[in-house]
Amino acid sequence: MNGVPESILTPADRLSDTYDMVVMGSGAAGLVAAIRAADAGLSVVVLEKAALLGGTTAAGGGVMWAPNNHLAKAAGYSDSQADGIAYLTEAAGHVLSMEEIEWYVATAPRAVSYLNESTKVAMIPISRPDYHMEWEGSADGGRGLDNSPFDPAGYPGLSALIRPSSYFPLLTMTERDGLNGRAADPALLAERAARGVRTMGGALVGSLLASALDRGVQLAVTAPVKELEESEGRWSVDVGGRAGREADHRLRGCACLRRLRMEQQAPPGFPSVPRNTHQCPLQRRGRAGTWAEGRGRRC
Ligand SMILES: Cc1cc2nc3c(=O)[nH]c(=O)nc-3n(C[C@H](O)[C@H](O)[C@H](O)COP(=O)(O)OP(=O)(O)OC[C@H]3O[C@@H](n4cnc5c(N)ncnc54)[C@H](O)[C@@H]3O)c2cc1C
Repeated sequence: MNGVPESILTPADRLSDTYDMVVMGSGAAGLVAAIRAADAGLSVVVLEKAALLGGTTAAGGGVMWAPNNHLAKAAGYSDSQADGIAYLTEAAGHVLSMEEIEWYVATAPRAVSYLNESTKVAMIPISRPDYHMEWEGSADGGRGLDNSPFDPAGYPGLSALIRPSSYFPLLTMTERDGLNGRAADPALLAERAARGVRTMGGALVGSLLASALDRGVQLAVTAPVKELEESEGRWSVDVGGRAGREADHRLRGCACLRRLRMEQQAPPGFPSVPRNTHQCPLQRRGRAGTWAEGRGRRC
């Protein structure tokens, strides 16, 4: 495997032909799906088309927007489900149904509880207000959840396999906010870099990857899903790249793509993100779409 740590990645010749669940992509969406499936006792493989893990999630800020979450309440912020629904209706009422908005606001705190109590994810409420304080239901802090630094000790080689940040320094979002534009302590940055510590989206991905590995989830990189085929309720997944052992490799499993129409949702608080929905490019039989980077797909 050319120096790739086999304790982290499953080499092509060790991939099974059959899994209970095949997850495409190693961003936050795929990794959480993989962890939940493993918790339910399923055998899971995550196939990542890139050479590094984590997708856009690892390169980004990793801040989750979760109204009415228990961490914010414990930190002294006041919030309610009704306020969360009112704000999200202002932000995304033109693209989401009321049912979806209510589902998100009811489910986000449960997701926060699950991630913080059952996985290695460790979130910290940020004191930033919502982007639109003039909107009904806005909150002056606590809805944005930052990630504690992820220390990869115990997972040798993992940090080097996580996609680097696009431009963020090795600081938490909270630490970065606290600097108010001043330069970070170079000694702290150097020490974190030397130990492979990751912050922001990299910390979220690192924590999720560690949690997935703890549960026996297999990870494969350079493993693009090229084609899906469903027959009698089971899916066959064609994998290219190195994991395809030169020629294409076919895995069978109950893929996570039961719902072929997936919706792209604009994250609340990101007004510059196009607010639209897309038809999932994956056909019942056909090539995986080239734009298929996650961007918060629901499946
Ligand atoms: C600079 C920056 C900062 C951001 N900050 C925030 C923030 O603070 N808070 C927030 O909520 N959002 C933020 N975002 C947006 C957020 O990162 C994305 O919405 C989120 O990461 C999407 O997660 P995902 O798991 O759906 O997709 P990704 O993290 O992109 O994961 C998808 C993965 O699927 C893989 N893949 C695609 N096709 C295939 C295939 N055929 N076979 C195998 N693998 C495949 C990709 O290579 C990728 O690794 C930020 C984005 C950027 C760029």
